[in-house]
Amino acid sequence: MSAEERIKNYAVECGALAAGIASVEDINRYAPEGHRPDDILPGAKSVVVTGGPPTTAGAWRSPNPRITTLTRVYPMIRGTVVMKLAALIEREYGYYAVFYDGQAESGHNPFLSLKLCAEMAGLGTRALAGGVILNRDHGLLNFSCVVTSMPLKPDGPMEEPVCPHHSCIKIWEAKHTTPCLEACPTCLSGFLEGGRIKWMQFRRYLCEPRAQTTSTTAFRQKLLEIVNETDLEKRKQMVYGEFFSRIVRSLAFSSELVGGCIECLRHCPVCIKATTLRPIPRGGKP
Ligand code: SF4
Ligand code: SF4
Repeated sequence: MSAEERIKNYAVECGALAAGIASVEDINRYAPEGHRPDDILPGAKSVVVTGGPPTTAGAWRSPNPRITTLTRVYPMIRGTVVMKLAALIEREYGYYAVFYDGQAESGHNPFLSLKLCAEMAGLGTRALAGGVILNRDHGLLNFSCVVTSMPLKPDGPMEEPVCPHHSCIKIWEAKHTTPCLEACPTCLSGFLEGGRIKWMQFRRYLCEPRAQTTSTTAFRQKLLEIVNETDLEKRKQMVYGEFFSRIVRSLAFSSELVGGCIECLRHCPVCIKATTLRPIPRGGKP
């Protein structure tokens, strides 16, 4: 088994659904200075990218959107997956490795774009919905990665885009919209031409306050409001109220939204296909 296969198989054993390898050279063609793998690890040659399912197929089908979002726990383990992968690369192959899951950072200025790394590792392509990467087999994935000085054979970007799905192209031709654009016209705009995305806009500044109402940003905003409230009774109600309690709970357990609300993907045909189970006969695989 090649080192590339061993590393990718190990990622899956550790809990990822898919793994791919990108070359630092490919990533650096697009990433600006200061946000390149070799800014994190001098001499970096490869980036191993892992992707896991945000939640289960059952949770995608729940009529209660809170179930779909509250069960998105993969981001809590994706750091562990790449930490183990980095240890394998350093201990078994003797190359430096840094793992990165973007989780420890806040704000919109990450060290590295995990989406760009995922694209360059062939794990998916940009989607019209919510600034995400869609994988043809697994739909929406949460990414984390290992930057390493180990030279590995890269998978490279996909040749054909996953988005738009052929059924979205038909909907566009008939109605000039797609399921994701229809679901969230406030945050999403785009245009298809010749079966490809001609242009798209993801208004993250609108998505974040709509979808991440219990994030760390919300905590700071609410805290300032509470501190500035001069009416003591009202301040007490704000501290013990349902909304601030949810924010504090989410900080303690990382149990609330960890990204967008993904309602724009609920009727995405790529995600529907990826989360539709095939019947498995009792006692064995099909
Ligand atoms: S994640 Fe939610 S708020 Fe953001 S674009 Fe999608 S539907 Fe809109
Ligand atoms: S619904 Fe999914 S496949 Fe269709 S355009 Fe939107 S993101 Fe792309």
